[in-house]
This record gives sequence, structure tokens and C-alpha cells, in this order.
Amino acid sequence: ALVETRVPLQHWPQAFFAVSNNVHRPGLLLRDLECRDAGLAALFARGPDAVLSELERSGLRGRGGAGFTTALKWRFCRETGDPQKVVVCNADEGEPGTFKDRVLLTAYADLVIEGMTLCAAIVGAREGFLYLRGEYRYLVEHLEAVLQRRRELGLLGAGIGAGIGAGSGAGSGAGRGLGTDGARPFDFDIQIHLGAGAYICGEESALIESLEGKRGVTRKRPPYPVTAGYLERPTVVNNVETFLAAARIAEHGGYWFRSEGTDQSAGTKILSVSGDCARPGVYEFPFGTAVRDVLAACGAEAVQAVQVSGAAGTTLKADEFDRLLAFEDLPTAGSFMVFGEGRDLLEMVRNFAAFFAHESCGFCTPCRVGGVLLRELVEKVATGQASAHELDELRHIGAVMRRASHCGLGHTAPNPVLQTLDKFPHIYRQRLKSADYTPAFDLDAAL
Ligand code: NAD
Repeated sequence: ALVETRVPLQHWPQAFFAVSNNVHRPGLLLRDLECRDAGLAALFARGPDAVLSELERSGLRGRGGAGFTTALKWRFCRETGDPQKVVVCNADEGEPGTFKDRVLLTAYADLVIEGMTLCAAIVGAREGFLYLRGEYRYLVEHLEAVLQRRRELGLLGAGIGAGIGAGSGAGSGAGRGLGTDGARPFDFDIQIHLGAGAYICGEESALIESLEGKRGVTRKRPPYPVTAGYLERPTVVNNVETFLAAARIAEHGGYWFRSEGTDQSAGTKILSVSGDCARPGVYEFPFGTAVRDVLAACGAEAVQAVQVSGAAGTTLKADEFDRLLAFEDLPTAGSFMVFGEGRDLLEMVRNFAAFFAHESCGFCTPCRVGGVLLRELVEKVATGQASAHELDELRHIGAVMRRASHCGLGHTAPNPVLQTLDKFPHIYRQRLKSADYTPAFDLDAAL
């Protein structure tokens, strides 16, 4: 049973992490949800090529935020000659305001693991990791129990499928990935790897470094993990929700999945909705849903701003609420934070600036130093000690971070500052020592 845990909003971002486990309005993915391992049954009945074709037909794109085509990723990995392929589930859910993977792993772990197992069968992997956010340590016992039960059922470990469907006696393909007949048992097992609390380890290459026992620093890509990932082996890394969606697509087919969503963003998106609304929690909406409709569903009124896709995401003001949640408009990894009219948005910026300064891995100077400078300048504004030229300084540092940082964390860390400077300039101006501010730094030219 899912229990709502509400924390007073003034204590956020903790509030955003712990706001609710309630699942509202379950749609395509979460409707009638019971894991019957029907996706695996389809694999054994129809074969891995057929399941991969369904995935292609579905148009499923990665749910971690970037939206790379899942079938293409799996195909790239499958086509590498290396027999030592690896499947990784990225459950390092560290984006402020995101808690849907925690709920999925609590309530639907079987489906996530089924999705990983299907991926292993399709690409030909024997080894898998579930990389779990350090703060989700309390889920380890539950997840280990699910893994163990699946091993006992023959759904994980050696000879998966030896007892399922047609051709179950054909053991010659074990451990080598399936042939086109789809009937051969295969070996695949999953270990849980616990993160240690670093936000950067949610980035796939830093996650892989961490899996290898190293400090979480991002790698230069290409090569992408599908060709050189864990221990240089071809590695598929996908988000929790992506694996769950893959399992449901294997069960119901690609057209079923495509029946909702938009041309470029098929299916639904699971959102973590938090902040100033009557019904925070986990929601599933078809891609293409307007921000305004999400606000109506969660009971948000008198909304000043919505932060879509986490701290580094997009800050929307009220005249943008008709924008659509879709890769072609507002891509999102699932975080949807509502800020009512009573909120001081500079507190949001202050909080995110502190978050990024803390979470910079320290590898490159623009992010390591820039993040601290942004935090200090925002602090100065908040305490009424800043003068007008310091707003230009914020833009300048933000532009340097965007251009010169080593990875996505540094590129996007200044987003909350830069976006609110443009969209909500009054939250800065009203606190300046002198009010006569005209921007002198041309951010667009600098970028
Ligand atoms: P990306 O576009 O570089 O890659 C996305 C995925 O596609 C990766 O798995 C990558 O390996 C793969 N890929 C891309 N091009 C490929 C190619 N040519 N061949 C093979 N594989 C290829 O994006 P990214 O840097 O991995 O992630 C950035 C995204 O992460 C942002 O969109 C942001 O929204 C999101 N994000 C998510 C969270 C979260 O908590 N889920 C937190 C911060 C950022």
C-alpha cells in the first residue's frame, strides 16, 4: 500500500523528495498493472527480433530525459561483436523533485526487472546492474527479495526460459543471446549497486565509472556506452521507467503504445508532481499534455511558476502553461514542481544554486568555481547586498559555465539563474541596493 508522506513545503527540497507516494490517474503504462511476465512469454513465443520490432514500432524514447530511441540503443549494442554485454538500470534518481522511479521500484519492480531481462535477451547480455540511488538504500531488501523470487521462478539466473513456452528444451543458446526462433534459454542475472549520494552519478558515464569502483566523473562520449561502457564492454543504460515501458510494449505491442502521445513522443510520461498543489504524487499523462492540464489534475491554483524537468530544467511562467510535455516542446525526465503565487522564487533559485555548487564533481573549473560564485552572488542578492552590476556578473558566469563546463551538469547548472533573470527579473531587482538596473551583459551574444 502506498502511503502519502507530506512534509511542510518550507523544508524543501527535502519536501520534494518525500512529498508523496500516491499514484494518481494511472494511464497506459500503469493501468491494470500486474506483472504476469507476459513480455517474457512473448519473447519466448515470438523471439527477440519480433520483440525488438515491437519496440521499434512503439517509438519508445528514453525516459531519463534525453529521449534517445530505445530500440536503436538496443540494436547498436546487439550489433557489437563483443559477447560480454551488460545491461544497466539507472535508478540513481537524484534530480530535485523526482520520485517516480522510487515509486515504480516500490510497486512495480517485477516489471522493471522483466524489462531488463528482455533487453538482455535482445542484446545478448549475461550481466546486469541496478544502480540504486544511495538514499534509496531502504529499497535494497525489497529489491533483493524480488530478484531472488525471480531466480527461483527461473526468470533470472541460469537458463531463463527453460520452462517457458515453445522450444523450452532447446538449451543450446544458453548464455549466447537468442536466435530468431526465440525459444532458447539464456543466462542473465542482476546485481544491485548502491550509489553514495552523488547527483553526477545519474549521468550514465559517471554511473559506469562508479560501478567500476571509481570516482563519479563523466567520460567523454563518444564512444557511447553501447560500444564501450562498463569495463569497456558494450553496455545498455536505461532509466527505470524505460525498462518498465519496454516490458509493457513486449506484452501489448508497439501499436498499443503508440496509441497515446504525439508523433515524436509516443506513449505516456510518468511525472513526479510536487509543490503547491492539492494532490501531489505520481501521475501518468500522455505525451502532448499541456502543463495547464497537469496543474488542473493535481489541484494547483494561483500558480506563479512551474519548474519542469528538475533543477536544471525549464522554469515556466503563467503565460507558458499551454506548452506541451513532449520531446518536441518540453522534454522532461519527470519532475514537475509547482510554485504558487505566494512563493518567493528567489528562494528556489537560491536552493538550486546551493544544490549545484554542492553537487559539482569538481573535475572542471567552470562548474566547480562557477557554481560557488553563482551561489554566493544569489546569496548576496537575497540578502539585499547586491548592486546592479552583479546581475550582469550572474549572467556572465552562467554563460561561461554553459559554454566551458566538461559535462551536462555544468552546462545546465546556471539554468535556474539565467531563466529567472529573464522571466522573473523583479525577484532580483527588488532586492538590489540601487534599483536602476539595465542589463549590460548580452547573454545571447555570449552563448
Ligand atoms: P544524450 O542525448 O547524450 O544521450 C542520451 C542517451 O542516448 C544516452 O544513453 C546515450 O548513451 C545515448 N546516445 C546518444 N547518442 C548516441 C549515439 N550516437 N549512439 C549510441 N547511443 C547514443 O543525453 P545525456 O547526456 O545522457 O542525458 C542528458 C539528459 O539527462 C537531459 O536531457 C536531462 O533532461 C536528463 N537528466 C536527467 C536527470 C534524471 O534524474 N533523470 C537528471 C539530470 C539530467
